[in-house]
Amino acid sequence: MSRIWNFSAGPAALPEAVLRQAQEELLDWHGAGCSIMEMSHRGKEFTAVIEQAEADLRELMGIPEQYKVLFLQGGATQQFAQIPMNLLAGRSADYIVTGSWSKKAFKEAQRSGQVRCAATTESSGFTRLPVAEEIKLDPFAAYLHVCTNETIHGVEIPAERIADTGVPLVADMSSHILSRPVNVEKFGLIYAGAQKNIGPSGLTLVIMHRDLLGMAPLSIPTMMDYAVMAENGSMLNTPPTFGIYMAGLVFQWLKAQGGLAGIAAVNAEKAALLYDCIDASAGFYVNPVDVECRSRMNVPFVLTDAALDADFLAAAKVAGLLGLKGHKSVGGMRASIYNAVSLEAVQVLTAFMNDFAQRKG
Ligand SMILES: *Cc1c(COP(=O)(O)O)cnc(C)c1O
Repeated sequence: MSRIWNFSAGPAALPEAVLRQAQEELLDWHGAGCSIMEMSHRGKEFTAVIEQAEADLRELMGIPEQYKVLFLQGGATQQFAQIPMNLLAGRSADYIVTGSWSKKAFKEAQRSGQVRCAATTESSGFTRLPVAEEIKLDPFAAYLHVCTNETIHGVEIPAERIADTGVPLVADMSSHILSRPVNVEKFGLIYAGAQKNIGPSGLTLVIMHRDLLGMAPLSIPTMMDYAVMAENGSMLNTPPTFGIYMAGLVFQWLKAQGGLAGIAAVNAEKAALLYDCIDASAGFYVNPVDVECRSRMNVPFVLTDAALDADFLAAAKVAGLLGLKGHKSVGGMRASIYNAVSLEAVQVLTAFMNDFAQRKG
């Protein structure tokens, strides 16, 4: 068996140790005589799994007592609708648009009520963050929405740029949650689809301040009401049990890597290696994003000679490097270097890129 070097944007690589443990426990979970997928979500075994997963996540992210952790479904895309449904409460909300995902979130929210674009960097091709003078905030907004890591454009908001604006901050962290320490208290609500840095698709994490619960109008479906989900411990109905179990294994793996500070150090080294390779290629490869907001998780780059794209992807595949084709909206390449992508994988990638540039440049 040989596993590829996996740079897929999502669903993405999972830690090999986690996959092996899941394989080992698949047929007979801890002596239960069946897999974790085949037992009641209300039994004591699964209850212990979800409680441990929540405890480990709280420890990893330093989630304070007054925040609820919800294990939901529907992906980050469902949150684009669920957030305004719950939090608008007849008011308006602000959106900062820094790439495809925050643009989608903004567009979806328009179906639920009144929302404003507080700033957009679309005219600069989503390659930078808005400067303070460009951001026009509504002090009475129900919330301010940001995407802290734009998976397609490779734009990440550095922690020190997250300022208190006086309204609850709502953040789509799908593609960089758990990649570095975060001050949860700066946020009213954090959400993430699981399939980038947490586990299999089908699970969506929501971490929200309890003051934001109970604002939803009675007209929304029960399943969409955060307060109901919170009251029922994310088990109003059957939760995605296998996804929660896998997320729990990933959380334990992260703790063994030294927690978020430990994994952040590796992530910084991986990103520096790859950006250095791109920047030192004398224009053979180009990443267009402002240095201050380059993503440590998603690294888009183009070959200046786009005629070489197909060659690059074919040669990469032969070298066992997969998932490098860029999103169709931006073209070129993208290497997603999530937590489960090792430093060794990035070393193999940069060696390949240097060699390719030497042969074709
Ligand atoms: C992948 C992604 C989404 C969409 O996630 P789904 O789970 O497929 O709905 C939304 N936002 C960001 C930042 C993403 O990376």
